[in-house]
Amino acid sequence: MQLFSTKRESPEVGFEEAIFRGLPPDNGLYMPDHIPVLGKDFWDGADQLSFQEIAFEMANALLSDEVPAADLKSIVDQAINFPAPLVRVEENIYCLELFHGTSMAFKDFGARFMAATMSYFLQKSNRKINILVATSGDTGGAVAQGFFGVPNITVTILYPKGKVSDIQEKQLTTLGNNVRALEIDGTFDDCQALVKQAFLDEDLRSKFNLASANSINIARLIPQSFYYAQAYASLKKLGLPLVFSVPSGNFGNLCAGILAWKMGMPVKKFIAATNLNKVVPEYLSTGEYRPISPSVSTISNAMDVGNPSNFPRMYELFDRNIEVMRAHVYSTYYDDEQTKASIKDLYDHHQYLACPHTAIAYRGLKEYQKTEKEEFSGVFLSTAHYAKFLPEMEAVLQMKPDIPERLQGLLSKTKVAESLSTEYQEFKTYLSDHLS
Ligand SMILES: *Cc1c(COP(=O)(O)O)cnc(C)c1O
Repeated sequence: MQLFSTKRESPEVGFEEAIFRGLPPDNGLYMPDHIPVLGKDFWDGADQLSFQEIAFEMANALLSDEVPAADLKSIVDQAINFPAPLVRVEENIYCLELFHGTSMAFKDFGARFMAATMSYFLQKSNRKINILVATSGDTGGAVAQGFFGVPNITVTILYPKGKVSDIQEKQLTTLGNNVRALEIDGTFDDCQALVKQAFLDEDLRSKFNLASANSINIARLIPQSFYYAQAYASLKKLGLPLVFSVPSGNFGNLCAGILAWKMGMPVKKFIAATNLNKVVPEYLSTGEYRPISPSVSTISNAMDVGNPSNFPRMYELFDRNIEVMRAHVYSTYYDDEQTKASIKDLYDHHQYLACPHTAIAYRGLKEYQKTEKEEFSGVFLSTAHYAKFLPEMEAVLQMKPDIPERLQGLLSKTKVAESLSTEYQEFKTYLSDHLS
């Protein structure tokens, strides 16, 4: 697979270079220059395959020139080691639960696949890397869990003190081994600034091999296309057209669905559902792309993104043509009151507990259903387990939902984190003392 930059001012690179670079030097995004189409035989027979088999066939179509099949199979089996069940919620409406991995959010798919592919290339060339990552919550958890115990890689996570939830903090700070947590006495932006400065520091870079686990890494996008295909396979027997509703922030998840469609998966429509950070819905209705700065805070906070980082990819996937995008994407947005009403509706009428992000996707699907006469199977993606948002759930539902054992166990573990100020020198000294 060769990848070009969406800004077209950097040379094409192979997959290995793209995942270690993360971003092309021109600050665009890496995109495959050719998207392979899997034949009708694959899609017609997909319901006979397991989730891992579907994932392998897709990964192999994309990466066969870079990773031998046997190695790719073991990467896929390592990364896709938890299910993505499809739960029927009401007639013709299903929830695709993507939260059965260790951090209980869909970002586990991307993080685990990135960890497995990076580790594969590093072992082959006998190299080591140190990953630095700043987090406002969910990404750090998935990265910490995804890279935990992975050979040849250490992870240093910076998070803003007192600004992540209890569960998120425990996910970052209780692992140990090759994962270190730094509690920064500042904001998420301070954490990001420290990481950025470290990447620009020639002195550090000459001593240590630094890398990022940025959410726009192409290795995080690819595996997210696998679960769309699996959902397609499960619903194929019903013979209805398929609609996916995706709760969107940076739009990586939606891009992965579009990738699966470009690989030949039949889809009638994608629904891009957002909170009040409604840049993309507004773009589709007005034709103008206007980032929102600063982003609006909402109860679906993992989607509080005022300038979606994957938008250039989405644009590219639709041939840089807004009409093509409009033909395939229905986009809508909701405020917190509407989000809460949908959480309540799902619980009261369908006994289904959905996190705020998931509830937005459900609402988008119901809205679209009213505009569409043709019968279809609708799938809304559940991007996180509701228990990651307990205070919000309790306030809306006026009851205490069960906490899964996995999370309960986590809450009783002891936090281990080093406290640092926002001073760069202090951070640099820490890295010099701890990295190798
Ligand atoms: C990251 C995240 C999203 C947004 O996904 P994008 O790929 O950035 O659009 C939605 N819901 C949850 C729970 C998330 O953690």
